[in-house]
Amino acid sequence: MGSRSGREGADQAVYNGTASPPPPAPLQAAIDCIANSDFAKTDDGKAILQKIRDALANNKIESQDLKPGLFGTYNDGTGVITYSSFYNNDPGVIASELVHEGAHILYNSRLPKPALDNLDEEVYTNLQQLAFYDGQTGDCKPKSILVSGELDRRKALRDAGGSQFRDDVKVRYPAYN
Ligand SMILES: [Zn+2]
Repeated sequence: MGSRSGREGADQAVYNGTASPPPPAPLQAAIDCIANSDFAKTDDGKAILQKIRDALANNKIESQDLKPGLFGTYNDGTGVITYSSFYNNDPGVIASELVHEGAHILYNSRLPKPALDNLDEEVYTNLQQLAFYDGQTGDCKPKSILVSGELDRRKALRDAGGSQFRDDVKVRYPAYN
């Protein structure tokens, strides 16, 4: 029994201290999906995964009720990534959102000084999200038809070439134009 209570004491020390509690299982599964993807072998994918891991280590990934149609957000000021609680049990959607929002963090970190979100930034984050989506299969694929349908729609525009994809991003993010 001595070792048992000692172990409980150690666990308590961890959770009361600076270390964070383990993430919810679907969030961990989502990060595993990214870590195991071909996307994470690309230069940008590797850097985005690191930004996501840093955010997790700093307790800056959370789930909140967001308005319908909004899958996730990133707050430049607080550095918090939020994914919609509607997808709490859909690791494929969480992973997709983490890549998008993590791409915002990476994009901003490469600028000489923080800038307001702009169209180039949204095009970049959307393209990274689609590059990851290209390899999302099995348990790592979004279960939500709403989300996968939307990503398929964007993918078709990207693959069609020309300015169609950029024009679509422009319509979806009017504030950044
Ligand atoms: Zn964005």
